[in-house]
Amino acid sequence: MNTLCAAGTGAFLSSQAERLDVPVEEFGKIALTSKSPTPIAARCTVFAESDLVHKAQMGCKKEDIIAGLCKSVALNYLNNVGKGKKIMSPIIFQGGVSKNIGVVKAFEKILNEKIITDENGHLMGALGVAILSKKEQEINFSFDIIEDKFETTSINCQGCPNNCEIICVKKNNQLLDSWGNRCEKGSNKSKSTIKE
Ligand code: SF4
Repeated sequence: MNTLCAAGTGAFLSSQAERLDVPVEEFGKIALTSKSPTPIAARCTVFAESDLVHKAQMGCKKEDIIAGLCKSVALNYLNNVGKGKKIMSPIIFQGGVSKNIGVVKAFEKILNEKIITDENGHLMGALGVAILSKKEQEINFSFDIIEDKFETTSINCQGCPNNCEIICVKKNNQLLDSWGNRCEKGSNKSKSTIKE
């Protein structure tokens, strides 16, 4: 769902579920019982986490905090990852977090649009990789990967004050993928660091 910030990931929701002593599978259902979601800082996981603790200490109801967290995940995604991107219908939500009805409903409320999910939505990434592997197998399959050298490095883009940290994954010194840049300028930056 998100390569820019941990707040949009299932791992973040799982750790907060643990903190609230609620099974993460129940998170969504509990969120729907809230009549007044507690506002939780959505800008960053660190703030969201400390805000959650603060709201719990203030005596906010658990269901309201959980609904607020679901809303903050949706807002974080739209404000950070989806920023500047055109939202097109139909909206399809996949990945583990799509199983959380609280987050799905939060997206629907913010976007005022029905969100499409699938009961196997958490498996879509694995399915995609399986299809790609099958295609690759038909074209050119080998176990050479065992001999390949993989390396992860990071660079800081100086293109603007955001100073994004860009993580680069290289295979035999060739860029495989990079993430963390908030704009295309950073993507070019990561490419330029690789010696061909
Ligand atoms: S990637 Fe884009 S937003 Fe990030 S520092 Fe570079 S120019 Fe700025």
